[in-house]
Amino acid sequence: MNIRLEQPEKKRIGLMGGTFDPVHYGHLVAAEEARYQFAMEKVIFIPASKPPHKSRNDISTPEQRLEMTKIAVSSNPYFTTSDIEIKRAGLSYTIDTVQAMKQANPDWEIYFITGADAILDILTWKNVEGLLEECFFVAATRPGFKLESVECKLGRLSKEALARIKTIEVPSLAISSTNIRQRVREGRPIKYLLPDEVEKFIYQNNLYLSASW
Ligand code: ATP
Ligand code: MG
Repeated sequence: MNIRLEQPEKKRIGLMGGTFDPVHYGHLVAAEEARYQFAMEKVIFIPASKPPHKSRNDISTPEQRLEMTKIAVSSNPYFTTSDIEIKRAGLSYTIDTVQAMKQANPDWEIYFITGADAILDILTWKNVEGLLEECFFVAATRPGFKLESVECKLGRLSKEALARIKTIEVPSLAISSTNIRQRVREGRPIKYLLPDEVEKFIYQNNLYLSASW
C-alpha cells in the first residue's frame, strides 16, 4: 500500500537517525517498511556524533558506528549512509541535519524515520514545531510502545504538526542495541539480531566488552 504523494514533484527521501551502537535488524526492518509504504527513493542512515539525549561517553567511536552501518546497508540498493552528523562538530540536532539536507537537495521531501519510543520523546527535541514544518515523521511501532499513545502524548503539538507524523507497523522486533551490547559483554549470542558482517566487525574490534556503560 503506497500512500498518496503530498508533493508529487518532490523526491521522497527517508532519513534514519540513530546512535547505531550497533545497528541491528530492528533499524533495518523499520527503514525498509517505511521506504516501501511511502514509496521513498532511498533511505539514508545517519549515525549521530554525540546524541544529545545520551550521556554515555564511552560508546564506540563514531567511525566504528558509521562503518557498521555501512556494512549493514550494503545489501539494500535503496539504503545508503551519511556522515553529515559525524563530520559536524558538536551535538547532533535533527533539525540541523534536515535543514542541511534540504538546502543541498531542494527537490527532496524528507521523511524522518524513528521508532515509536523516539517519537514519544520529540517534545524534548530542539524546535519540534519547526522540525515538523521541514519534514514528515514516520514512527514505527516497537514492542512495548502503543501507537495510540503517540497522539495522546503529543497533544501539545499543533494540529498541523501532528498531521505530519505518520505511523507504520513493523513486525515486532524486540531488538535493541542496549540488549546486543549486554549480550556481547555476557558472552551470549547476538547471531540473527543483526547482519552477520556486523557481528564479525564487533568481535574483530572487541567492541562492547567493557562493563563501563
Ligand atoms: P539503544 O538501546 O542504545 O537506545 P536502539 O536499539 O534504541 O539503541 P538507536 O540507535 O537508539 O537504537 O535507535 C535509532 C532509531 O531506531 C530510533 O528512532 C529508535 O526508536 C529506532 N529503533 C530502535 N530499535 C528499533 C526496533 N527494534 N524496531 C523499530 N525501531 C527501532
Ligand atoms: Mg534507543
